[in-house]
Amino acid sequence: MKQSQLFTKTRREAPSDEVSKNARLLIRAGFIHKEMAGVYTYLPLGFRVLKKIENIIREEMNALGAQEIFMTTLQDPAIWIASGRWDDKMVDNWFKTKLKNGNELGIANTHEEPLAKLLTNNVNSYKDLPLYVYQIQNKFRNELRAKSGIMRGREFLMKDLYSFSRTEEEHKEFYEKVAEAYKRIFERIGIGDKTYRTFASGGIFSKFSDEFQTLSEAGEDTIYIDEKKKIAINKEVYTDSALAELELDKNTLIEKKTIEVGNIFPLGVKYSEAEGLLYKDANGSNKPPIMGSYGIGLGRLMGAVAEVLSDDSGLVWPKSISPFKLHLIGLTDASEIYEKLKKKGFEVLYDDRDTSAGEKFADSDLIGIPYRIVISKRNISAGKVELIERATNKTEEISEDELIKKLS
Ligand code: ATP
Ligand code: MG
Repeated sequence: MKQSQLFTKTRREAPSDEVSKNARLLIRAGFIHKEMAGVYTYLPLGFRVLKKIENIIREEMNALGAQEIFMTTLQDPAIWIASGRWDDKMVDNWFKTKLKNGNELGIANTHEEPLAKLLTNNVNSYKDLPLYVYQIQNKFRNELRAKSGIMRGREFLMKDLYSFSRTEEEHKEFYEKVAEAYKRIFERIGIGDKTYRTFASGGIFSKFSDEFQTLSEAGEDTIYIDEKKKIAINKEVYTDSALAELELDKNTLIEKKTIEVGNIFPLGVKYSEAEGLLYKDANGSNKPPIMGSYGIGLGRLMGAVAEVLSDDSGLVWPKSISPFKLHLIGLTDASEIYEKLKKKGFEVLYDDRDTSAGEKFADSDLIGIPYRIVISKRNISAGKVELIERATNKTEEISEDELIKKLS
C-alpha cells in the first residue's frame, strides 16, 4: 500500500483525555480512533493488526477441533433470568435496551447462557459430545473505569470458546489443551516470555480458574510469580491455604503488575442445568454436560503488545501481527522495488509521500513495522538498499537480491 493513499495521518499529540500509553501511541500512529471513553474504532492499520491476531487465534481454535459460529448481540432476558444473571446485582456491567413495545433486551456481555440454550436444539445424546464451539464477536460491558485504552473497552472484541463434556476427565483434558493453545497464541503474538498462567478465583468446581497474565506496569492485576515453575497466583486468591494447596513457597514468589490477556474457567453444570441442556448418557438417563469457558480479548491483547513492546520512539510490532512486514521509505522514487517486493508476496507499506526524510523516519518509528528499507539516490547508485530492524535498530546495506533472500 502507498502511504500517500492511507487516509490516516500520524499525529504529534494524542487527545488530552487519553491517559493510557497503548491508546496514546495507537491514536498518534493512526491505528485507532477514540469515539468516547472505552469506545474505539479500528482504522486501516489497526484493523490489519486486529485481523492478524484474529487469524492466529482462529487457527489455534480450529486446531483444537472447535467450530466457529457468530451469535447475536441482542439477547433474550428469559435466558438470563433462568441462570439468575439478568439481575444488575448479579452482573453489574450490563447494557440493556428496550423494544418499541417496552420489553427489555440484553446487549451481549458474554454468551454462556445463550449458547447453552441454543445447543438444546442440537445436543441429545452422549454421542453428540464432547462439543467445542467458539466465536470472535463484540461484547458490551458498562465498565466503571475505562482508563486503559483498548485494554478495557465498553465495546470490545472477544474470542469466546465454550466446551461441553460428558465427564470431569473429558473436561479436564480439553481444559489443559486449551491452556496449551493459549500458550502458543501468546508466543506467536510475541508476548509468550512475559505471560504467566496464573491461578485466580472464579472456578466453579475446581476452586481456581486460570488467567494468562502479561507483565506490565500498565496492568490492573497483581500476581505473585514462581519463576522456576513459570506459574503465578493472583493477589485475589493469595492466602496461606491457597499457597499450601498449590505448593507455592511465599519466599520465592515475586510480586508483579500484570495485564489479564486471557482466562479459562471451569463452569461445572451451572449453565447447562439452568438452560435445560441435557443429553442422554449410555444408560438412557438425562445429564447436563460439564461446561468450560475460555476468553481472550483481542483489543486487550493488541493493547498489551503496544504497552510492552513499544519504546520511546513508538510502537514495535512483532512480525506475526504487524500491519505490514516492510516499511519501504522512498527518499527518491522507489516504485520499482515496491512493485518487485509486492510481486514477491511481501506486505509493504511504501512511504511515497512528498515529505522530509526526518518526518518519514519519525513516522516509521512511530508506526513500528519490523523492517524498514530505505531507498536513497546514493544507495540506489551503489546497487544497495538500507535495511533497518525496528526492534534493535540493526542496520545493514545489502543488495536487492540479498534483501529478498533475507526476508523470505
Ligand atoms: P477483567 O477482570 O479484566 O474485567 P474479566 O474477568 O471480566 O476481565 P472475562 O469476562 O473472562 O474477563 O473475559 C475474557 C477476556 O476478555 C479477558 O481475559 C480479557 O482479555 C478480555 N476482556 C474482558 N473485559 C474486557 C474489556 N472491558 N475490554 C477489553 N477486553 C476485555
Ligand atoms: Mg470484567
